[in-house]
Amino acid sequence: MAQEKSESATDTPLRLDPEHVFQFRCAPGVPCFTECCRDVTIVLTPYDVLRLKNALGMSSSEFLDAYSVVLSTERRLIPMVVLKMNEEDKRCPFVTRQGCTLYEDRPWPCRMFPLDMNDDATFGLITDASRCRGLREPSKQRIGDWLIEQGVPIYDEMNSLFAQITSPLRAQEPDIQNPQIRQMIFMSLYNLDRFRDFIFESSFLDRFELDQAMVEKIKRSDLELLKFSFDWIKFGIFGQKTLKVKPIPETR
Ligand code: SF4
Ligand code: SF4
Repeated sequence: MAQEKSESATDTPLRLDPEHVFQFRCAPGVPCFTECCRDVTIVLTPYDVLRLKNALGMSSSEFLDAYSVVLSTERRLIPMVVLKMNEEDKRCPFVTRQGCTLYEDRPWPCRMFPLDMNDDATFGLITDASRCRGLREPSKQRIGDWLIEQGVPIYDEMNSLFAQITSPLRAQEPDIQNPQIRQMIFMSLYNLDRFRDFIFESSFLDRFELDQAMVEKIKRSDLELLKFSFDWIKFGIFGQKTLKVKPIPETR
């Protein structure tokens, strides 16, 4: 049986593992309730966008236009997509006095707060009890249990698939300046509804071998479509054999 290790907000090691017990509770009535949903930079992953646009009943294009800021640079092949805060009060567009209106589908950083994940998969606190008063609440839990309660595992699974693209890019950014390729990469990751149209309304299925079960899966499920988009990008950028090109029919 794992030994229970306990930490409080005033005695914080730099690296917490999932067995650590931390003191935290966030709920209406905590003095700072919803304060952390204001003037904050929330970077959205492709899976965050998928969940949010479906929760709002919007297409991915509509969501990106209304609720995101896309930050691109020449060097960065995959732009950074950030949740757009309200201009007037800098609050998140989804927060009310009662809390997050998209709680079930809130992005990964909102689920993790006040924790963040270190590169070695341990956890650290990104704020302290003077700002996040929930860290003073008399409620304790294992970090591992708390993450499950917050619905983090599916986000971690999808983010680790996404990292199979972003990590090699960080190490060696390929020199791809063609704007059409850059747009294709962005569309495949963040504009899933358009990516689906691209697959089903272009010659894509004539050019690549996909079994019928896979075709049905990506037609019906955004999750499967996003996983497929990761494979498509690995094929396109890194030349990995994640897709099979159909042989060109012989002409007489
Ligand atoms: S998405 Fe929800 S939890 Fe995240 S900042 Fe907005 S209101 Fe807060
Ligand atoms: S600062 Fe902490 S306690 Fe306050 S609303 Fe945010 S997460 Fe909850």
